[in-house]
Order: sequence, then structure tokens, then C-alpha cells
Amino acid sequence: MNINEALEALEREGMEALDALSRSEELPVWYRAFLGRKGRLTDVLRALGKLSTEERPAAGKKGNEVKIALENAFNDRQEAIREAELQAALSSDAVDVTLPGRPVKPGHLHLSTRTLRRVREIFGEMGFQVYEAPEVETDENNFELLNIPAYHPARDMWDTFWVDDQVVLRTHTSPGQIRCMRERHPEPIRVILPGKCYRYEQITPRSEHQFYQVEGLAVGHNIRLTDLIGTMQQFAEKMYGEGRQMRIRGSYFPFTEPSVEVDMDCMLCKGEGCRVCKHTGWLEVAGAGMVHPVVLRNGGYDPDEWSGFAFGMGVERPAMLQHGIEDIRYFYGNDLRFLRQF
Ligand SMILES: [Zn+2]
Repeated sequence: MNINEALEALEREGMEALDALSRSEELPVWYRAFLGRKGRLTDVLRALGKLSTEERPAAGKKGNEVKIALENAFNDRQEAIREAELQAALSSDAVDVTLPGRPVKPGHLHLSTRTLRRVREIFGEMGFQVYEAPEVETDENNFELLNIPAYHPARDMWDTFWVDDQVVLRTHTSPGQIRCMRERHPEPIRVILPGKCYRYEQITPRSEHQFYQVEGLAVGHNIRLTDLIGTMQQFAEKMYGEGRQMRIRGSYFPFTEPSVEVDMDCMLCKGEGCRVCKHTGWLEVAGAGMVHPVVLRNGGYDPDEWSGFAFGMGVERPAMLQHGIEDIRYFYGNDLRFLRQF
């Protein structure tokens, strides 16, 4: 076989072998075999040295043509294989955009929020505005101006989160009374002050260190204890149902005088006695009373001319009663199994 025939045979075989390749790992193997330094083209060209000077240029030219043809074919094949592999990878992780999506279920309001909204609605119908006050308070507003000076034993009723010597996380919504009175005097007031309160307390099924409270405050001329009782009666009937029986017990709060506890008959056992009402037949609705003269004066109202009532109630507690929830910790546990029930 002469060198020309050998080169033509090499080109044909090289092209055929190249066409048979399908994976990119096979490409360097082919390259080494045909075009590598110890490959088949090198072998054939080595025979050029045995040719006569007349034959050599033509054979050399042919060898070069074969080399270029194989290299070009190799480059084209390499590109085609890589493109095919890329397409295969893309289509194997492809997302089928025509499939229906996973539905996102709409959420709903938290039970505390819904209870709070209902409370606001009921008092709104009775002409109470909503007054928002800050959750971080001064010691002065939270205690001093509400007639609870530093030495007062009533401070023991509230274990407090202190931010520093003068600033606390409010332990009740009552400091909002001072803010509201100072802002509104000498106008009459009828507001509720809903919001979160904080106490440095052991967390138990009945107490959390964070909870909602709704404070109520009415200041005007000739406001009497019976106005408070009537307001509480109307609230209880709208919140818990018609025909509720009310009971007023004497109590003590530093910022009201006289102070009372407002109870209503247990709607679960109709006053017969059950576990929820601890077999008394009665449930606490609110702590309340007539605004203490010292507090009225601190708010800018002359207690000889003005009087008022105030009350404070929980929000989680009524929700617990209504739905038979036994543990207040569920409200802040973020457990969807609990939340989705309401
Ligand atoms: Zn009961």
C-alpha cells in the first residue's frame, strides 16, 4: 500500500470511528488514537522519510490535508456531543410548567386577634373609641401615676420586666389611662385600650408572660358605679349570650376606689357548677372600679368635678372559656394543629 492509500484509509477509518462516538468521555480516546503524538497519523507520516524527494511534497501535502480534515471533523463532533449532553441534562431536570401548582391555603386570623376584634366591636357599639398606648412604658406611667408608689405593696402583684431603672414592659394596659387623660383633658373620655402586656412570670397552663388585655376608661360628670355595672352587663350579654347574670364583689386595686370584681354566671353549666368555673357557677369577667381621685388628678381631671370608671379584662381567658381551651400556652405555641381549629 502506498502512502496516499494509507492516508485515505486513515481518513476514512477516522471519520467512521468519530461518527460512532456518542459520549464526551470517548472524545480524548479517539484523539489520542488518530491525531495524538503516538497516534496513527504520526505513524503514517513517519514513512515520508522513505520517499524520494520528488514524491515527498505531494505526500506531505496530502498528509496535512488529512490532518486538517480529521481535526475539523473532531471539533464538529465534539461540539455536537456536548450540545446533545446539555440538552439531555436540561430535559431530565425539567419542570413541567403545565402541571397544576400545589395550592397555598389562605390562612385566617389568630384566635386572640378575633376575640380582640369582637371585644372592640362590642364596645364600639357602646360608643367606646380605641386608644392605642405603647407596650414599653415608664415606671412613672405604669406604677407611680396609677397610685402605686415604689414602696407600695401592690407592686408585688406584678412581676415586672425592667428595661432599665425607669423603663418597663407594661404589666397592664392601665398606663394608657394616664396617657389618654393627659391628652384628652378637659374633654370627657370613653375609650378602650387593647394591647399586649408582659409579666415576669412562670409560664403555666393559666399564665403566660405575655398576654392581651383590654382596658376600659370612662371619665365624665356624674359617672357612677351603676354605669360600670350596666356597661359590663351589656358587654357580657353581647359576648357570651343574652340573659347573663352578673355578680359584683368588693376587691382592691390601687388605681380604683371602690374596686370590684365583675363575675357572670358560667355559660357552660348555667350556674350549676363545672370544672371550668371551678364548681362555683361563676366566671370572672373583669377587674374594675371607680377611677381613684389620685389617678384622675394625675390625668388632669379635678376629682371634685369629674368621676369615671375603669375596667380591665383578659382576652385569652374569654376565648378559653368560649372554646373550652385548657391551656393558655397554646395561644403562643404557633402549633397549627391548635390554630386551625378556630
Ligand atoms: Zn361552670
